[in-house]
Amino acid sequence: MEKRHATIILVLIALGVVAGFAAGLIFGESMTSVKWIGELFLNALKMMIIPLIIAAVISGVTALGDVRKLGRIGGMTITYYLATTGIAVLIGLIVVNIFQPGVGVDAVAVDDHGEKITRVTERAEGGFIAIIESLVTSNLFASAANMQVLPLIVFSILFGAALTTVPRVGEHVITFFNGVNEAMMKLVIWLMYFAPIGIFALVAARLGQAEADGGFWNEVTAIGLHVVTVLTGLGIHFVVLFLILVFLAGRGLPYLINLARALLTAFGTASSSATLPLTMECARESGIDPRATRFVIPLGSTVNMNGTALYEACAAMFIAQAYGINLGIEGQIIVFITATLAAIGAAGIPEAGLVTMVIVLNAAGLPTEGIAMILTVDWFLDRFRTSVNVWGDAVGAAVVDRHLPDIGIDESVDNLKEPAQ
Ligand code: ASP
Repeated sequence: MEKRHATIILVLIALGVVAGFAAGLIFGESMTSVKWIGELFLNALKMMIIPLIIAAVISGVTALGDVRKLGRIGGMTITYYLATTGIAVLIGLIVVNIFQPGVGVDAVAVDDHGEKITRVTERAEGGFIAIIESLVTSNLFASAANMQVLPLIVFSILFGAALTTVPRVGEHVITFFNGVNEAMMKLVIWLMYFAPIGIFALVAARLGQAEADGGFWNEVTAIGLHVVTVLTGLGIHFVVLFLILVFLAGRGLPYLINLARALLTAFGTASSSATLPLTMECARESGIDPRATRFVIPLGSTVNMNGTALYEACAAMFIAQAYGINLGIEGQIIVFITATLAAIGAAGIPEAGLVTMVIVLNAAGLPTEGIAMILTVDWFLDRFRTSVNVWGDAVGAAVVDRHLPDIGIDESVDNLKEPAQ
């Protein structure tokens, strides 16, 4: 996309978010009538995901030229994901311990005998095995149809790796997927022109719905301190990621500005998967090596969820505090580990984090009915955490890009230069 167009689109998307908020608050329920426009945009984005992931990952992996390099780039990517997710959970735990948003909420959970629960109940296992299982599918097409992208990525990585070992005929297939990838990115650019109106409609309709359900401000202020805690944590982590960008990737504000279209789309759609095409295009426009974007961003959109991890830790602690359950250090370590796993396991779709929250609560022995308390504002916080999730992926791509030469991936093996814009 031309620089001038990109700037105009960014301004229009930002206006779309602000106008969407205003329209939802002022016109309330009647704004749900524009929901279909938002859905149209969302579905158009989703329509891109499957072919884009397959083509991008295959062409990204084959561009590495040598299967062993895949291991190195993979190792660096996973290390980055785990480190930043861990930092996110830690920030979440620190802010929630400082703000103590659940203290005084006074929720009561009862056990099977009608007794009040004030201690940690039996801890359940779970999380890790489920994540391993989700890597492989018995039916690739069924997974694609259900938007389970993780097995698709695993398959594409293996397929790409296999292609590099097939001489001559393999090259035709590689060229084919490179072409598909280029065409998909063109489609994404076209779609970006509709983003402002699509995001306006998504925000206005959801806010209008919240107004109809009992009032946006009522929902937010009812557990206001929880909202403030999560937003503070997310804000801090956003800055931490920016510092990582500066110190480990040697980039700064221009990258953030370039990515802003994707971040606002994440806010509008509450889905990192739906935002994936835009994240890839914005990173590519910033000059990130395609071998980094095509590998790091698709995988990150479903595996690397910093915002979700931070949120899960905050929410679990909020529930513990509200029920007057003291988790102690051991309990918080369990929250730390399971929130990390739950975020990895969460799909990149709206409010997926709420579903995997059950893993954290079960593992820490907290009452799962506590989720009801945070349900009303989840859609709102989801938008912020999704933006942080996408920011984490984008920063990851920049970090890996910077360190490609360190892991032996340099210009000489690049058979995949992006065509001039
Ligand atoms: N909506 C988030 C995403 O797509 C996941 C979540 O935290 O619910 O990244």
